Amino acid sequence: MKIICIGRNYVNHAKELNNSVPSEPVFFIKPDTALLPKRNPFIYPSFTKDLHHEVEIVLKISKIGKHIEAKFAHKYYQEIGIGIDFTARDVQEQCKAKGLPWEKAKAFDFSAPTSDFVPISKFEDINQLNFSLKINDELRQVGNTSDMLFSFDKIIAYVSQFVTLKIGDYIFTGTPAGVSAISINDKLSCYIEDKKMLEFNVK
Ligand code: MG
Repeated sequence: MKIICIGRNYVNHAKELNNSVPSEPVFFIKPDTALLPKRNPFIYPSFTKDLHHEVEIVLKISKIGKHIEAKFAHKYYQEIGIGIDFTARDVQEQCKAKGLPWEKAKAFDFSAPTSDFVPISKFEDINQLNFSLKINDELRQVGNTSDMLFSFDKIIAYVSQFVTLKIGDYIFTGTPAGVSAISINDKLSCYIEDKKMLEFNVK
């Protein structure tokens, strides 16, 4: 499986990093080695001194597809979850300054801890979904999917023009404002509405 990540999909986050607001989705890919095995702590990597959390709603692809039209995109995912797109911000800034790809900063091992998935039918409207991140029980990021620049269906239509989506692929759909550095011994907890979906410690 592969993990497709959308960047700059919430205006307030693009602005906090002084990025322009994109006219089409920005995406990059993490390998399956970016998943964090269940109940494992996250080990702070040695190559960064500025590791940021980005909490994001995650779609799980349920059907193979290429060139999917937005109006049919909802047929390609039945479940959603939540995850963290860990980003070595210092490394990413160096890559961006040189015009180089971001993989070193984004695609490293265990950089995409993800919750279990929940059927979409459990939610009233996934296009108006509250989600959040707490660090050591303090609220740090809050988002609502209605603030996405590109909806879930538009993301699927756009990405599938370039990349075939396969069953079991994940799509991280972008982070709202509030990203910041984490530290060793932090406890990260991710919520969809009021339900805690994912929790792990940083070691
Ligand atoms: Mg992200």
